Amino acid sequence: MALLQGEVYEAYRSELLKRYRILLTSLGKDQPKDKIKTVRAAFDLAAKAHAGTLRKSGEPYIFHPLAVAQIAVGELGLGVTSAVCALLHDVVEDTEITLEDIEHKFGPKVAQIIDGLTKISTVFENVDKDTSIQAENFKKMLLTLGEDLRVILIKLCDRLHNMRTLGSVSENTKLKIASETMYIYAPLAHRLGLNAIKVELEDLAFKFTDPLMYKDISVKLAETKNARQRYIREFIDPLKEELESAGLNISEIKGRPKSIYSIAQKMQKQHIPFEEVYDGFAIRVIVDSPLHLEKADCWKVYSIVSDMYRSHSSRLRDWLSHPKSNGYSALHTTVLGPKGRWVEVQIRSKRMDDIAERGLAAHWRYKAGSNEPLANTPQDDAFDNWLNAVKETLTNNDLSALDLVSEFRTSLLGEEIYLFTPKGDVKALSNGATALDFAFNIHTEVGKKCIGAKVNNKLVPLHHVLKNGDIVEILTTQKDRVTRDWLEIVKTARAKSKIREALKAERTKKATQGKLLMERLFRKHNLVWNDQTLGKFLKHFHYHVGAEFYHSVAEGHIRLTRQILFDILEKKSPDSTLKISPKSAGTAAKKKQPAIVIGEDYELPYSLAKCCNPVPGDGIFGFVTVGEGIKIHRTNCPNATRLLSQYGYRVIPANWRGDGYQKSFETMISIRGIDDVGIVSRVTEIISKDMEVNMRGINIEANDDGTFDGKIRVMIYDLLHLEQLMDKIKATHKYIEVSREDQ
Ligand code: MN
Repeated sequence: MALLQGEVYEAYRSELLKRYRILLTSLGKDQPKDKIKTVRAAFDLAAKAHAGTLRKSGEPYIFHPLAVAQIAVGELGLGVTSAVCALLHDVVEDTEITLEDIEHKFGPKVAQIIDGLTKISTVFENVDKDTSIQAENFKKMLLTLGEDLRVILIKLCDRLHNMRTLGSVSENTKLKIASETMYIYAPLAHRLGLNAIKVELEDLAFKFTDPLMYKDISVKLAETKNARQRYIREFIDPLKEELESAGLNISEIKGRPKSIYSIAQKMQKQHIPFEEVYDGFAIRVIVDSPLHLEKADCWKVYSIVSDMYRSHSSRLRDWLSHPKSNGYSALHTTVLGPKGRWVEVQIRSKRMDDIAERGLAAHWRYKAGSNEPLANTPQDDAFDNWLNAVKETLTNNDLSALDLVSEFRTSLLGEEIYLFTPKGDVKALSNGATALDFAFNIHTEVGKKCIGAKVNNKLVPLHHVLKNGDIVEILTTQKDRVTRDWLEIVKTARAKSKIREALKAERTKKATQGKLLMERLFRKHNLVWNDQTLGKFLKHFHYHVGAEFYHSVAEGHIRLTRQILFDILEKKSPDSTLKISPKSAGTAAKKKQPAIVIGEDYELPYSLAKCCNPVPGDGIFGFVTVGEGIKIHRTNCPNATRLLSQYGYRVIPANWRGDGYQKSFETMISIRGIDDVGIVSRVTEIISKDMEVNMRGINIEANDDGTFDGKIRVMIYDLLHLEQLMDKIKATHKYIEVSREDQ
């Protein structure tokens, strides 16, 4: 310890050395020499870099990174790389050492993790700034989730050590750090399956946020300790005997008092005094079984327990068949113990117990060290799904940092329910999830096209809240149906971010439509739509960006008469009475020139085929008939394949004229939906009044099952016009399908 010179260090040298040796021991005796050398190099570098700095408690700063490394290795079971990173976690931020120095000495992996840790500024630095800065930091931290999970694990170790040594900062700072720990770090530890850390963080935070209650409960726990231990022994001893005589290899049976925080929660929620919190402890039975027998052995234990003590029938929780997505698996049951007290018994294997306390860190260790195929366990999938959902939420820039933190927190705390697809696949969703959440969980495209669901074979709306064990079948339509209201319907972060994305894409699409409409309008008047004219319109209608203006145009919010148009352009209108808004364009459709060019000929007569009713924008071809002249068909006309293949010599190329958007065309749309009062009149009103489209015929029939089918022949202007009309009709009702009829 040549580095720790000077009087201040003299007092600490032997203590520091002792703790460093403990760290090495925790890493394991069989570490190769070069690994030990790396740890030593990291320790020396950190000690040197932090030399002269003291913690608030007065001890040299190096004690902090050393303690963080000890938690990472000793309590989480992480390895050498994590130890090195923990030792170095504050050097880049607080000292002269640069990230390049770290990379040069310890390689890219360590540098990457340190970089992640440095991006998360320490809370101590930011506690006096406002919350949004905290949230920004938190967002940065979450972004590192995707890079290497060790960043977040070491950050939690860092936070835990800071909480353990929180005594020496100001009262105000304590409160802020404790609240933040309770709000986000404890749930995060819970979600990662780090139960021991979660419980300790909660208790430590509670100690600072409610010191009186904390003291009250801990004193009472101490007072009742003997009585409790007597009771636990009374419960355990005969059970142990039974289990062992049944040939089970019991690793441990213990009674563990519940955490102070969870007792406090129970007292507050149920308004009861400490004495009435009967399940102040849980009995844990841990069996030592090989992997392929562990579930069966757990059930054996369960059957013996419930033979000995009457069990509470509704209190069996089976996380053996479906582990929680944080990796937790066990059997929980509640039985009537001696003296008529209800006792919770948790049954799990040694492996499960390790995972329960140390979370995914332990799970991955088992996976790496196991010869048995453990390739993709349900908890891996569930965890991956959650992680992906978190990443999606994070990359959504529309979300403010504060929203993000609260949404992330919801995703951390959510209890899970298990649902089934009709094929029997299991999906884990957070409690409170709706049918629409389920649809987005299956696939984004399924979500976007969802119109309802069948839950246990009963038809339900999108906002239906699912229950554990439901069998859910999603009903979809052909087209996307995403609306802003959906954000209120869904509960999961994944669905929310997918809906936001879709809304954004929809806006972009609308803006493109709006631009096309403007170009078309201008073309009609032999004018050119360009950036300069756009600028004039933005100014006139008070828009800042083109996209917003185009969106309003496409939505029909902006009505452009010929007069307005020419006024804006400061030109004299040739005819100031005629309206030429895009809406009325379809009706102002008398024209002299044919809209279609046959071959190179602009004058050749033609007629539109009745089988497919082509409209401008459709791909078309001409077909020379016997006696009826040239017929124009859509290239995707149901008859096209036959005509093109059998009578190829009678087919002639045809195109819409570039300036041919002047005529209206007849086409047929079909609508289907759930019968609702006034739906038909609303649809026809949209067609005739709102869109000013001529209807040539309408036929709507009600079916026995409460749905209706209809066909409407309309005169429309081109493909875009048709799509707008169909969108408007779709918007009239939640459950309406609109499509273009082929025949
Ligand atoms: Mn730190």
